[in-house]
Amino acid sequence: MSPFEAVKQNTSARQVAEFYGAKVNKNGMCQCPFHKDKTPSMKIDNRFYCFGCQETGDAVDYVSKLFGIGLRDAAIKICEDLSIEYDKTTQKTKPVSRPIRPQKSEAQIFAEAQKYIFKVLSDFHGMLKKWKKEYEPRSPDEEFHPHFVEALQKIDHVEYHLDTLLDGDNSDRAVLVSEQEKKVVGIAERLKKCKEEAENNKYENRFISQKRDYER
Ligand SMILES: [Zn+2]
Repeated sequence: MSPFEAVKQNTSARQVAEFYGAKVNKNGMCQCPFHKDKTPSMKIDNRFYCFGCQETGDAVDYVSKLFGIGLRDAAIKICEDLSIEYDKTTQKTKPVSRPIRPQKSEAQIFAEAQKYIFKVLSDFHGMLKKWKKEYEPRSPDEEFHPHFVEALQKIDHVEYHLDTLLDGDNSDRAVLVSEQEKKVVGIAERLKKCKEEAENNKYENRFISQKRDYER
């Protein structure tokens, strides 16, 4: 019997995962070793499926991913480690036993970057809208406040980026993510500072009005 058949007939993804250290709870869930999993998000039985990172497969896939080895080596490793009989004459390579740390997939990294950029840009959009209203000149000869000017300059642009992230096709979003990844870090820092300043002003204003009440 080939190692693949031997694994299929004699064991399950769950049994194999438990053998290599997974703790499966009574709902048949365990922590996923393929992404940073805090709560058990992997359903595991004959096959496994992770609700966090969507990794899925059978016992052989699990071991192949866990140890970073090929499928055939994974099947052989399972047979050797769990003492399952298989046809050794077709064995070509030796199983590797050194576990490697699971790496994030390209798709995961991209999805996270996109999520972060969307969050920062939508916060920034909110602030620009606020500035546009708050710093609008009250009279024709009043000089434009820099925040008002910035809001006028940037609002459309930011809206366009947000639209692309929501509805754009894959290549447009990929371009945007690679262009904006560094830029939004600066924006995020600025947003943080503005928020802190706004908080401080709130306290200061309250203090001034209290003082006025007191002196009255
Ligand atoms: Zn996962």
